Amino acid sequence: MTAAAWPRIKVDIVFSGRPMPRLLEATAVKEATLIWAQYGVDLLATSPDTPCRDGAITLAVVLADHPESPVPDSALGSIVFVEGGPGSQILMYPNAIVALVSTATVLERSEPEWPTMLRNVVLGRVLGRALAHEIGHFLLRSRDHSTIGLMRARQSIADLVAPERNRFTLSQEEGARLRSVRSAASQ
Ligand SMILES: [Zn+2]
Repeated sequence: MTAAAWPRIKVDIVFSGRPMPRLLEATAVKEATLIWAQYGVDLLATSPDTPCRDGAITLAVVLADHPESPVPDSALGSIVFVEGGPGSQILMYPNAIVALVSTATVLERSEPEWPTMLRNVVLGRVLGRALAHEIGHFLLRSRDHSTIGLMRARQSIADLVAPERNRFTLSQEEGARLRSVRSAASQ
């Protein structure tokens, strides 16, 4: 399936809440952008004072200290559904991501041995993948999880930190759902 066959969707994301190191934010945005680009989704991080692009959906991404009940403490991100549909606010939990990444091994080195730049790249990658998952709940208008790919309820730490992102894809059913949700939205 080529990118041209997917409906084009523009999504502007606006970060707020806790500040993040620039490299970490840039890596996270790049990761989420690349995951969604293969499905025709054009993701762009904008600042709160920049007007959103014509025809773009705006998603607010709030970096919060910790999840509020009923979201489990181990959650990396969450999105609230209101009356069956997803809200346009995604909460991300950098502390949970830091805790998870502290148990990872990259290039055969455990986290305390990583140089700062590698730490920010890995944290950004994990944050971006977790953000891409929450964007998936929004775009698919579904709270469902699958057994494989981007929409798994729980990703393995090895997959989350790995440089290759080929495990972060939509299933065939999710791809079909994305098309039907978007074609309904554009009518
Ligand atoms: Zn989920």
